Amino acid sequence: MAVMIAGELGDKTFETKKRKLLLEDEQTIKKKVNLELERMEDTEIKVKIFPILGDEYFRPVETEKMFVGKVNVKKETSRLIKELSSHWPLTSRFHLKRVRGTQQKDISEILIRPVELNESNESYSLASVLGEAQINTTGLMDSVAIYEVPKYPALTYDQYKVAKEFWPVQFREDKRIEKSLKDDLFNLEERKRIIEFMKMCLSVGQYGDEKVGCVIVDPVTSKLIAVAHDQRDLHPIQHAVMGAVDLVARSQGGGSWDITSKHVYHLHFSKEEMDSKITEIKKMNPGKDAKKMYLPYLCTGYDAYVSREPCVMCSMALVHSRIRRVFYVHKSPWGALGSQCKLHIQEGLNHHYEVFRLELEDSVQNCKESKMINCEGKPNCNSDS
Ligand SMILES: [Zn+2]
Repeated sequence: MAVMIAGELGDKTFETKKRKLLLEDEQTIKKKVNLELERMEDTEIKVKIFPILGDEYFRPVETEKMFVGKVNVKKETSRLIKELSSHWPLTSRFHLKRVRGTQQKDISEILIRPVELNESNESYSLASVLGEAQINTTGLMDSVAIYEVPKYPALTYDQYKVAKEFWPVQFREDKRIEKSLKDDLFNLEERKRIIEFMKMCLSVGQYGDEKVGCVIVDPVTSKLIAVAHDQRDLHPIQHAVMGAVDLVARSQGGGSWDITSKHVYHLHFSKEEMDSKITEIKKMNPGKDAKKMYLPYLCTGYDAYVSREPCVMCSMALVHSRIRRVFYVHKSPWGALGSQCKLHIQEGLNHHYEVFRLELEDSVQNCKESKMINCEGKPNCNSDS
């Protein structure tokens, strides 16, 4: 394991030396990791990467009952759609097409309105279904049926395949979602990088009290920004993610904790790099004071690797710092990115990020899991990260 240094040379006069030391350490880390990657070249990379999406992406297709009429005068169809829509707009059911063809050439079916809870499955006449609504029934046949139609829009192709068997629905494929569900979002090179950073994360985690590590990376340049492990022995909120975010702040001239571990690391941005980052933030937030906004936007565009699913506090810290993506390996019963809740997609928050869970090949995972034992000798399955 490469040893990383940060915070030991706080004196300004040592800035140059510090920068050199840190960069050298980054090279050491990269070298070590590259060696491991070379060994991976000839073997299949066994990692599964699952997206942590909202429950709505995985739910089975639910249906609700609708009254359906028959139109036997084709030229009346658009007028009927307009009139029915003015009485019973499909506002919350925009995914449903109002009309569908039938096997009989001149007859189509049209959605009239939802079946209310107090309406049973008895047969209804057209007049009773329309009630007091002023609808010109020219072109509508007397018979009315009750159909089950999809209650929610299809968000995935699998849902769409099932939904359209009930009734025609609108569906706009989200290619990114489809690829992520098939674990086809990341190419071979990206997968190698993801494993590389996660292995580093699992390794540095071993130095922490709770064996949790966090690595923050700029995915565009693959540059390491911060590497941290938890230090709860020093303070109860010094979780790995909190430490890493603080180190990102330190890389940009801020930071509020005196993190003394020699196993952590942060990059040191030059003034030019800082100015360019502030310009980037200005572009994203026109008309606002970029410097004042700087702290909340510490991690704009960055990825975080965490060995264990972050807790609510850490997940919120990642929201506040505007992280781009989060990757983790071990689920936690207290985790806020899939287990207890899915904070990263919570409505009402002003930033959302993507989350992926990794299933690494056994040799990597078992090696690290065997060390994930707390001081009482029990697996760390009941604490947050
Ligand atoms: Zn935490």
